[in-house]
Amino acid sequence: MLKLTPQDITLTAIAENKQEAIALIAERMVGDGLVEPAYQQGMLDREQQTSTYLGNGIAIPHGTIETRDLVRQTGLRVVRFPNGVKWGEDGQVVYTAVGIAAKSDEHLTILRQLTHVIADEALSRRLHTTESADEVRRILSGEALAGSFVFTANQVRLKSGADSYTELTALAGAVLWNAKALTQQELASVYARNPFYLGEGVWVLSVSSQAENGAAAVVQPEQTISLYGESLNTLIAISTHDNQHLPLLEKLTELKLDGGLKKLAACKRSVDVIRLLISQSLAGQQVVCPLPIAHGLHARPAAALARIAKQYDAEIWIENLDSDSPAVSARSVTKLISLGAQLGHRLQITVDDAKADSILEVIAKAIAGGLGDPVVRISSEPHQPAKTETVVETVKPGDQVYGLTGAPGVAIAPAYVVSEPDYQFEHHAVSPEAELVRFHKALSAVSVDLKNKLDKTANTELAQIISMHLELLLDPEMKQETEKFIAQGDSAEWGWKQSFEALASLQEQSQEVLLAERAIDIRDVGNRVLGKLTGQESAGSIEADHVLVCQEIAPSEISELDASVKAVVTAAGGVTSHAAILARSLGIPLLVGCGAKVLTITDGTDVIVDCEAKVLTVAPNADTVAAAKATMAREQKLNEEAYKTRFEPAVTTDGHHVEVMANLTAAKGVEKAVELGCEGVGLFRSEFIYMDHPQEPTIEQQQAEYARVLDGLGEGKPLIVRTLDIGGDKPLPYMPMDEEENPFLGLRGIRLSLRYPRTLIHQLHALLRAAAGRPLRIMFPMVTDIQEWRDIKALFDQVVADYPDAQVELGIMIEVPSAAMMADIFAREVDFFSVGTNDLTQYALAIDRGHPELSRQADSIHPAVLRLIDTTVRAAQQHGIWVGVCGELASDPLGAAILTGLGVRELSMSTRAMARVKAHIRGFSLTQTKELAQRALAAENSAAVRALSVNREADHV
Ligand code: PEP
Ligand code: MG
Repeated sequence: MLKLTPQDITLTAIAENKQEAIALIAERMVGDGLVEPAYQQGMLDREQQTSTYLGNGIAIPHGTIETRDLVRQTGLRVVRFPNGVKWGEDGQVVYTAVGIAAKSDEHLTILRQLTHVIADEALSRRLHTTESADEVRRILSGEALAGSFVFTANQVRLKSGADSYTELTALAGAVLWNAKALTQQELASVYARNPFYLGEGVWVLSVSSQAENGAAAVVQPEQTISLYGESLNTLIAISTHDNQHLPLLEKLTELKLDGGLKKLAACKRSVDVIRLLISQSLAGQQVVCPLPIAHGLHARPAAALARIAKQYDAEIWIENLDSDSPAVSARSVTKLISLGAQLGHRLQITVDDAKADSILEVIAKAIAGGLGDPVVRISSEPHQPAKTETVVETVKPGDQVYGLTGAPGVAIAPAYVVSEPDYQFEHHAVSPEAELVRFHKALSAVSVDLKNKLDKTANTELAQIISMHLELLLDPEMKQETEKFIAQGDSAEWGWKQSFEALASLQEQSQEVLLAERAIDIRDVGNRVLGKLTGQESAGSIEADHVLVCQEIAPSEISELDASVKAVVTAAGGVTSHAAILARSLGIPLLVGCGAKVLTITDGTDVIVDCEAKVLTVAPNADTVAAAKATMAREQKLNEEAYKTRFEPAVTTDGHHVEVMANLTAAKGVEKAVELGCEGVGLFRSEFIYMDHPQEPTIEQQQAEYARVLDGLGEGKPLIVRTLDIGGDKPLPYMPMDEEENPFLGLRGIRLSLRYPRTLIHQLHALLRAAAGRPLRIMFPMVTDIQEWRDIKALFDQVVADYPDAQVELGIMIEVPSAAMMADIFAREVDFFSVGTNDLTQYALAIDRGHPELSRQADSIHPAVLRLIDTTVRAAQQHGIWVGVCGELASDPLGAAILTGLGVRELSMSTRAMARVKAHIRGFSLTQTKELAQRALAAENSAAVRALSVNREADHV
């Protein structure tokens, strides 16, 4: 954790522009020995990539990943610019810049610490203007600030059990003392103060305090009691501080005048009291919408809402009726996030404008539509029934619902919808000491459970995930946060839930899909502890075979599924989640991202889950079930037969050999690939090594992985490693990538490697060191233009000069139509082509390969794709080089036969498809595949190509 001292803070500096400001900060960091002088350029480059402006006048300038080596000592330097410095094009002005020198991702910790400042305008103002460097330090490090006025739901005790005025004042005193709003002495004398009667049973007790903070406490006796001849149902104790308590007094006066005081006694929840006492009166027309977003109003939907609000001149206010935070302007993303609105929370929109009607309609519609997130069914409890209807489609018999393949497989069974656990617990606790003991006991019980599970498992994926969960469980931050809540009088459950939810939401807000998907890991661990604390550990399982349907599935849930679960279908979730990785390794079919409508399936309804075709069929008719069962049985039989001959090569009846290779994502898969009959590895997706590391893997780490694959394959089985292919659907947290409108058309694959050549150079060194003179093939992804290839080749030539005994063939992937069309030009300079049919199809047919509905239509067997492959093969043959295919089309038996007929020499595929493809090819003569290929090229669309296989079904499947 980065620490600040007052000496690290410059309270006053002047800079004309951002460059000057950065120069000034860098100068301080260099002077203090934190960084080398060249780090300044890194900071400027970083701003070019993305501005480090955070909001409310704060920026966190720091160097690029490439300049981390220039950091001598990790540290922060804060420089304030009272006149402000223009930081971006859209009017962003920085008053406080926090310069960061960090060797790794420590700046993310700072960012996290800063979120409370960015979201709070008053606190930011104080940060920019206070005369005290120590106060700047405390604000930035999130320490409790002297002089706050504390008044949250934690300070409210409804129906407290107190049945005398003395008990009530004791309770109020304790609440104020906990909030550091009374000194010890004041606490002792709180009984002696005279309260005054406001009316309607409400009394106010005011203490002019010398304590650090001001605060208010609202306490109620169990039953109305009598005081000086008046009734007492609510006591409001205020520790006055500066004048920060005045708005509360004004509100109380307002309530008294409006006759609203009686509402206090009627409040059922602490948040309602807070809302009543701090809410500003907003004038204008209002509408209330429940939030239909599973993960609440996080950054993405908040930004969408702010964008809509900014289209209007009118002031638009949003209030979360289910929290104690006040209304905020809909224009500010951070303020909207600070509402803490969760699924089902009621958002009240207020607009004071002549066009209020139409504005309210637009906003209500956008919220009901999920603001870009999937719309989720909202349970009616504990919130009020929705005024604005939330439309969640329901399913009907025969419906087909499309999702994404989390893990392959097919299943037919009745569906059961399992809802998220609803843990029951109290907000407040009687004894903090007892709560602390319970909390620690629950933590160690979960830790023991996880360790036992770790000891028992032989599954490496599962072991890695459990270890990660153990680390999360023992995270000191979540533990300490919870302990703070407990010390304030909250229950262990409440405190723990607040702590892990805060972390999960922060994680969820990450723009990086992979990181955002890890939020469920935090909730998974969090819920385990909640389960222990509440004793609600297992929901009880269904014994009969079934398909489990749920909102999202956590890794621990996947790993603990009974054998009766034949497949899992989720409304949300992604294909790169840990749950998906586990499901693949455990062989559990998983269909993810099907949308909220799958949650409307009635328990016991038969479904067919076909994860290969990415479709769920609801209540299929008898014929469909019979057909699906027959297909499953036939598939199983063919798989079993093919398995027996898996080591025999794919040689056609007339003696033509097609190499069948494996696609791998990790070195540890190599033994399995050999066991399943691979003749080599045709595509090693090296980006997964990078994704498995929190920062760029070192040359040595990479070298070890590549060497393991080469060793595992042994002599005579070639290895093709594809260099780092990220961007598009595969982000890398530590590689800066701007958010792009069309990431698949943006900076991905080789484009990114050429932007950050150091990473590619390191990878090439690692590869050549691992090969140590053994034959190796390297290929480059997403090449579009010959100049890109030449730039890569120049880099390679520089690196290979250090390895005189290297035996390397270099190829490019053909996965962009331009590369296929220009294959004759490339073929003069490269050793081989490998066709990436997944991307080639998405670019040729203009269908996003991850699109939940359309991706089904992106069938790589489309004649347009086949024609591009044909062009590629012909060009290659003219120049005497060979062509392989490593996209999914190679694992499709019909596709494999057509590709063979087109002249493709090597087919690389997922390991489980190899035996079947080999067996299939052995059923053809080369002449037959050529005829098939010609008919496919002449076909009018994918369906027509697929129809070609029907005639052969009887003898070759
Ligand atoms: C392809 O695009 O076909 C390919 C093999 O690469 P990836 O699926 O990893 O993008
Ligand atoms: Mg690709």
